[in-house]
Amino acid sequence: MPDHAPPAHIVVVGAGQAGAALVAKLRASGYGGRLTLIGEEAAPPYQRPPLSKAYLLGEIDEERLWLRSDSFWQEHDITLKLGARVLALNAKAKTVTLAGEVLSYDELVLATGAEPRRLPAAIGGDLAGVYPLRSLADIARMRAEFQPGRRLVVVGGGYIGLEAAAVARKIGLSVTVVEAAPRILGRVAAAETADYFRALHHAHGVRIIEGVGVARLAGTGRVEAVVLEDGREIAADFVVAGVGITPASALAESAGLAIENGIRTDARGRSSRPHIWAAGDCASFPLDGGQARLESVGHAIDHAELVAANLLGAAQDYHAKPWFWSDQYGCKLQIAGLNTGYDRIVRRAPPDRDAARDTGPDAGPVAGPETALSIWYYRGDRLLAVDAMNDPRAYMVGKRLIEAQKSADPALVADPASDLKLLLR
Ligand code: FAD
Repeated sequence: MPDHAPPAHIVVVGAGQAGAALVAKLRASGYGGRLTLIGEEAAPPYQRPPLSKAYLLGEIDEERLWLRSDSFWQEHDITLKLGARVLALNAKAKTVTLAGEVLSYDELVLATGAEPRRLPAAIGGDLAGVYPLRSLADIARMRAEFQPGRRLVVVGGGYIGLEAAAVARKIGLSVTVVEAAPRILGRVAAAETADYFRALHHAHGVRIIEGVGVARLAGTGRVEAVVLEDGREIAADFVVAGVGITPASALAESAGLAIENGIRTDARGRSSRPHIWAAGDCASFPLDGGQARLESVGHAIDHAELVAANLLGAAQDYHAKPWFWSDQYGCKLQIAGLNTGYDRIVRRAPPDRDAARDTGPDAGPVAGPETALSIWYYRGDRLLAVDAMNDPRAYMVGKRLIEAQKSADPALVADPASDLKLLLR
């Protein structure tokens, strides 16, 4: 560790994935000063991914979401303030204001996450029965709606919307997904990956409407139907809005911090004002000449841990190693890398082992829902990212290649008979 006097009091605003990782890393690195973690939500720091997966399905209970045991905070001398919103930040005076309290800091980290976009009130987004999907409180509000036979319309065909649709189908609801863009997953994945998930949802009985926006939500007091821009009307008992998030940067903005696709940080996680840092969903960081922002657990942890190290004087730059996953029905999607700027797709469909056993050794790849498939994204010769559906080997190989900044011969990748592990040599 370089010669660096540790700050006397570090305050972290936002007790989510990044905030929790940051304070834990500080203590694990030997930081012995005062440490305060402030979170607006009533729940202790928890993981969000199961909110649209196993937790929504009722397969796991709330305690399984907690990132740390109840005793962890006290044992590590971390002052955890829950149900406490930071209302104001004074970067000059180095204070944050909570209801009834002003706290001074030596170093401040903003880990405020993101807020779900809402369907505008002007089109009925404020009707009862319309839900965002971001927090435990959101799930508590919508939980009772998930009953067999009820009609759900999911607005937005991104991962969270599709996961909610999959859970609803498993419970026995009738589900329609409406996506305004020409296709589902348009912002995050190639058409080939979208095709896979469309087929998967169709096979499970979900109706998907693409390329048509929502004109308004109809109902008296409570939503009764979703009216599309082409005039179609879809009856709905409730609506889940999975229409993306916006970084929670209002506090930073009001304190005069530079905002650029979230709270702008440099490669070390420092904001534009001294002694203020940012990490996770709320922060952007330099990448390929711009300011990138990632919305994933892996990034929240890595970014927060980097800021923790830099608070203690490490002076390290952030090198993102993006990875992500999604669970829908029997499909586990794993994503490695960032596909931004790809100009070529290579599709790899390994032979289905069971099918080969049933139909003889000459059986070709079996295309169908929940089979293995991986989509490899290239820019020129450079491998950028891999979407691996039910193919952990493709994910593992792709991730290792991308992190080592190596590529993979597209012809080998596309050949279902090739041994992917050879690519690592
Ligand atoms: P958060 O976890 O959102 O934490 C920020 C916290 O700050 C919040 O609790 C917020 O209330 C608090 N806060 C904000 N402002 C203030 C304030 N002024 N005062 C006090 N507290 C404040 N990622 C994956 O990698 N894989 C997945 O499968 C996946 N699935 C997901 C499913 C769902 C339903 C959701 C919502 C997210 C999913 N994600 C997934 C994304 C992942 O959960 C986020 O990227 C991650 O939680 C970001 O961590 P964070 O700490 O930056 O933000």
